[in-house]
Amino acid sequence: MKAIVIGAGIGGLATALRLAAAGHEVHVFEQSDSLGGKLNVFAQNGYRFDAGPSLFTLPSLVEELVKCAGASPSRFQYHTLDRSCHYFWDDGTQLIAWFDKNKLAHEIETVLGVDPTPTLKHLKHSAFLFETTASLFMERSLHRLKSYISKDVIKALVNVFRLDLTTSMHRSNNAALNHPKLVQLFDRYATYNGSDPYRAPGVLNIIPHLEHNIGTFLPKGGMYTITQTVADLAKEKGVHFHTNTPVRRIVTEGGKAVGIETEQGEIAADFVVSNADVFTTYRHLLPQESAPAGVLERERSTSALIFYWGIAHSFPQLHLHNIFFSNDYVHEFALLKEGVEISDDPTVYINITSKIEPEDAPAGHENWFVMINVPAHFDQNWDVLIPKARKAILSKISKILGMDVETLITTEALLEPRTIESKTASHRGALYGTASNDRMAAFLRHPNFSRSIKGLYFCGGSVHPGGGIPLCLLSAKIVNELIESDHA
Ligand code: FAD
Repeated sequence: MKAIVIGAGIGGLATALRLAAAGHEVHVFEQSDSLGGKLNVFAQNGYRFDAGPSLFTLPSLVEELVKCAGASPSRFQYHTLDRSCHYFWDDGTQLIAWFDKNKLAHEIETVLGVDPTPTLKHLKHSAFLFETTASLFMERSLHRLKSYISKDVIKALVNVFRLDLTTSMHRSNNAALNHPKLVQLFDRYATYNGSDPYRAPGVLNIIPHLEHNIGTFLPKGGMYTITQTVADLAKEKGVHFHTNTPVRRIVTEGGKAVGIETEQGEIAADFVVSNADVFTTYRHLLPQESAPAGVLERERSTSALIFYWGIAHSFPQLHLHNIFFSNDYVHEFALLKEGVEISDDPTVYINITSKIEPEDAPAGHENWFVMINVPAHFDQNWDVLIPKARKAILSKISKILGMDVETLITTEALLEPRTIESKTASHRGALYGTASNDRMAAFLRHPNFSRSIKGLYFCGGSVHPGGGIPLCLLSAKIVNELIESDHA
């Protein structure tokens, strides 16, 4: 059968590869000149920068695609990290989050004076949450009855009162951990899908399980290797890529998707998969159809301001992932919720791939990806907010690092909510589609198929199971299973 995939984000690439491996003729239409969407790359003045994601968990999902393409496992290689993050506070506290749980608990005891027991118990609880919910909430469609006829559902239902669904992540962390800095450290996992620890349900405490029970990784060559590997395998499986080709409309006939329209005219297909943001898909590509307004109007995840800096210095106290915490997390998230102002003491994320891949920066230099969370874009005055944020970031990190960082910047680039929206058609520049700030979030994402248009499917971060590379890869798997079952 002939399949059309709209968008070459990681979800679209993985879907295309799986469909081609299953024997379909697959055409991917991408509006921009490059593949990968948010998972992209650029080079500037001798530095290589991963443009979007920097944190990589669950490499087994990429390995599964390599296997699905029948390629050698050596096609995808990665570094296994011994630590997930270096944490910094303004009062001079520094903590290394080692992958090894016991080493982490020991570090927490040494730095914060907290007995190892609560940390280890909390990580065990995180593993329990993951094992009880992952297969139901992440690995299958929540919108098909047969998903609910399984042992996993019974397991989740039996344990429903232990899944922290009625409490927030923060309340759950606060009850389990004995130190405000430790609570802040675990609260920050809410930002992994652009959510707010004070509102997101406690079940999101599955996220630390990924880092401290499974691990964090960096693909060899940097994050873009993920895009490159999946795209290369897709090409080898015969997928046809059409870059610089925006899709204008999804063509429907008698309640069925029968193709797309580009500048060159209509192109027919047996089914269509949209990897474009679900909001964009309905509002721009299906103006003739009624849209599921309730789903489309849901709160978006946070967006981000990213400064890419070439730095003429090497900081021994920094590693691949570094976080400089805000002194007032409650205020920072209150501002993110209000959406108008940015905290003048934001939490700063600095990712430096040249710490692991030295060729990413000239000798003695580092390639800094410096990010803060900001609200999704509506009509804020970014031209005022961005320079203010840049100043606040520089002042915070210079104070902690004991050096005037601004004087070390040799080259600079910027990504912000408006450009995230314009480059990848992500509604309001959200990084992860809709936020997970309420208990029902998992059920209220758009399904991986259209209920009203036959032959139309959805993958990527704005639909079930959600944003972030692992979930986008899982959305591709779910879409393929749905297509195989619908066309069997
Ligand atoms: P997207 O990347 O959203 O791509 C969609 C594609 O569709 C785009 O290429 C777009 O051009 C194309 N498209 C849209 N409309 C059309 C049209 N009409 N015609 C043709 N093409 C169209 N995730 C992590 O796991 N770890 C992280 O550390 C992390 N950090 C992040 C940091 C930043 C700054 C950003 C921006 C994101 C981050 N994420 C992270 C989130 C992650 O990048 C996304 O969830 C994921 O890459 C989204 O993939 P997707 O499949 O939804 O497609």
